[in-house]
Amino acid sequence: MDFRLTEEQQAFRDSVAAFARRELADGALERAHRAEFPHGVAKKMAQARLLGITIPERDGGAGGTLMDAVLAIEEVARYCPRSADVVQEGNFGAIRVLAHFATGDQKARYLAPLLRGEEVIAVGMTEPDAGSATTDLKTTATPDGAGFRINGSKVFPNPHADQYLVYVRYGPGVAGIGSVMLRRSAAGFSIGKISKFMSGNDWAPIFFDNVYVPPEDVLLPAGGFKKQIEGFNAERIGNAARSLAYGRYCFEAARRYALDRKQFGRPLCEFQGLQWKFADMKVKLDAAQLLLYRAATNADRGFPAADETTVAKLMCNQAGFEIANESLQVMGGLGYTQETLVEYCLRRSRGWMIAGGSIEMMKNRLAEIVFERRFSQRPPRA
Ligand SMILES: Cc1cc2nc3c(=O)[nH]c(=O)nc-3n(C[C@H](O)[C@H](O)[C@H](O)COP(=O)(O)OP(=O)(O)OC[C@H]3O[C@@H](n4cnc5c(N)ncnc54)[C@H](O)[C@@H]3O)c2cc1C
Repeated sequence: MDFRLTEEQQAFRDSVAAFARRELADGALERAHRAEFPHGVAKKMAQARLLGITIPERDGGAGGTLMDAVLAIEEVARYCPRSADVVQEGNFGAIRVLAHFATGDQKARYLAPLLRGEEVIAVGMTEPDAGSATTDLKTTATPDGAGFRINGSKVFPNPHADQYLVYVRYGPGVAGIGSVMLRRSAAGFSIGKISKFMSGNDWAPIFFDNVYVPPEDVLLPAGGFKKQIEGFNAERIGNAARSLAYGRYCFEAARRYALDRKQFGRPLCEFQGLQWKFADMKVKLDAAQLLLYRAATNADRGFPAADETTVAKLMCNQAGFEIANESLQVMGGLGYTQETLVEYCLRRSRGWMIAGGSIEMMKNRLAEIVFERRFSQRPPRA
């Protein structure tokens, strides 16, 4: 066991930090408050090979590790929290599903433009009646010739994406679920009223009215969802890393503020009431980071453990939010304004306690691990 980064990891981390300082620090505040996806940042990141870090080189990625992707999120967030979203979306979730399951032709049409920073992908999973109970989804894929007709709707995805990875039902039960790829231009695909998350990001319901999906756009056939979920504990690491990175950003901002700001003729850092907040925050940051690094390192070694990734997500989501909240308190009225990014990080980190598996669902999963039993959340059968 060694709790230090390797020399290679340190060199990678330093190079990402230099890139973020040079390319992203300027304009970070303004970028955070713009609704549009920062396409310019994505292009720069593609050039710096920060998109597809864990994707094999033969598929256009950098052939790196999950730990590298975590380090990249951490370093980018230090200088520009909004840009850390781009690293996360370029390395976790839908992009890795594509890298894992797409055919060569699908990779050329869908994955390659993402890795070049030219397009944005969104996931259509949640439905009005299928949130935490994901597998209750009703959007259907009905055979039509060699392809399928898609009917149904989704809620909460990014309405401005170029391509959508949509989870569909080919047949009954969990084994009947798979996924297809769609472009926003597909006939019968429409976007409903655009609304806002607390983070400031847009979301909208999306609708499929007999959308035709040719066979070459089927990503996961029936049975694919189960296979994907089993193999993808690692995906939680991206969400966890970003939560914690936002917490750290706020901690650093509050720390600098407490050193500079004077009240009652003394810097804030000399008040014990605030010193203890920093002590508590440091413990949370260190604990969450160790759990995150353990999950990422073991997943890189080929041992992605459901308990480690679940514990890491739970801890990082809670720590990120709580640290952002305490940091805002330390910064008083200024922390509550949009003159700094602390309020932004607080709003963003709140969402990750719900998205990607809520805090409660993570705890349900951990209870099953603790008791080595499955606890069905459904009412008992009559
Ligand atoms: C910022 C953000 C971005 C998102 N982006 C996307 C996206 O891109 N694509 C997409 O498809 N979806 C997206 N979502 C939706 C997200 O996946 C769902 O919000 C999430 O799965 C929870 O579903 P729900 O909102 O329907 O809540 P519900 O499932 O209705 O849950 C409501 C509350 O009850 C709790 N709860 C539910 N079941 C249980 C249980 N068995 N035990 C204990 N507590 C329970 C939940 O934890 C929650 O607190 C996003 C959500 C957020 C907040």
